[in-house]
Amino acid sequence: MGNVFGPVPSRRLGQSLGIDPIPIKTCNWNCVYCQLGRSRPVVNERRVYIPAAQLLEEVEQALNNLGTEELDWVTIVGSGEPTLNSELGELVAGLKALTSYPVAVITNGALFFEPEVRQSLLAADAVMPSLDAGDAEMYRKLNRPHPGVPFDKVVEGLVQFREEYKGKYWMEVMLIDGLNDSEESLHAIAAQLERIKPDVVHISLPTRPPVEPWVKPASDEGILRALAILGRTAEAIHPEAGRFVISAGQDPTEAVLALVTRHPVSEEQLRASLPEGCPDCILEQLVAEGKARIVERYGTRFLTAAPSYFPDLAP
Ligand code: SF4
Repeated sequence: MGNVFGPVPSRRLGQSLGIDPIPIKTCNWNCVYCQLGRSRPVVNERRVYIPAAQLLEEVEQALNNLGTEELDWVTIVGSGEPTLNSELGELVAGLKALTSYPVAVITNGALFFEPEVRQSLLAADAVMPSLDAGDAEMYRKLNRPHPGVPFDKVVEGLVQFREEYKGKYWMEVMLIDGLNDSEESLHAIAAQLERIKPDVVHISLPTRPPVEPWVKPASDEGILRALAILGRTAEAIHPEAGRFVISAGQDPTEAVLALVTRHPVSEEQLRASLPEGCPDCILEQLVAEGKARIVERYGTRFLTAAPSYFPDLAP
């Protein structure tokens, strides 16, 4: 399966071509809302999981196949944490040389305290880390991190990156009902954001299937509270509305699999994205062949990659 997917509609980036530099689900966090299942085990080793040269070749091919599809960004977004790939710097530099589309990196930001990680991101046009917790206790509860990325060091890394980085620094806060949406939790997050000084704070909701079935998006009241407390740079991000692009040039089965491995998608949205003449039974076929699985959240059926571990699904 390829490591380049989409273009996909992104909540924050319009139509975005995704590049995944990491095997599923290689991450130093194990967030309760993760759409990719649980991290088993939680991994904090940086190494060349997929060489940058191979990823750049795939991107070049995908850009050549793009045809008239519109694209706003080229985005490095892992089916795990992209900064764990130790060739991330080569990948960012290679993308800047290969295309004039702006390059974004979506990351949890947990390793920004390491100078070489910050260095690898400096050429990106936008860097989009997460900050869901304002203190170590909420961080443990919500992000369930590897012990090698403690809260204080993570925040120090985010502060340090602000001092070095000249591009768009957009922070994401995933707002979970009954967890980090209380006044107290939001004030704690706001205090850390004061130190980090991102350009924008995006308040997001777990609209794709959270790994833990009890996770619920914050209510309207919780969102309004977050907007009031997190300051004037905060804005609420609505679920993406565009289509997933599976172009005629792609093998639809491979394209769907590549997509749902990084972005579980509702059956309805997937069927609407299949190219004309493509039988929508390919979704059932992927499930029957054991390549994909259905996970149900919020009364919606999402297609996800078979290796993703959701605790309420049979192994
Ligand atoms: S949401 Fe992102 S940071 Fe959290 S566990 Fe999943 S891949 Fe890792």
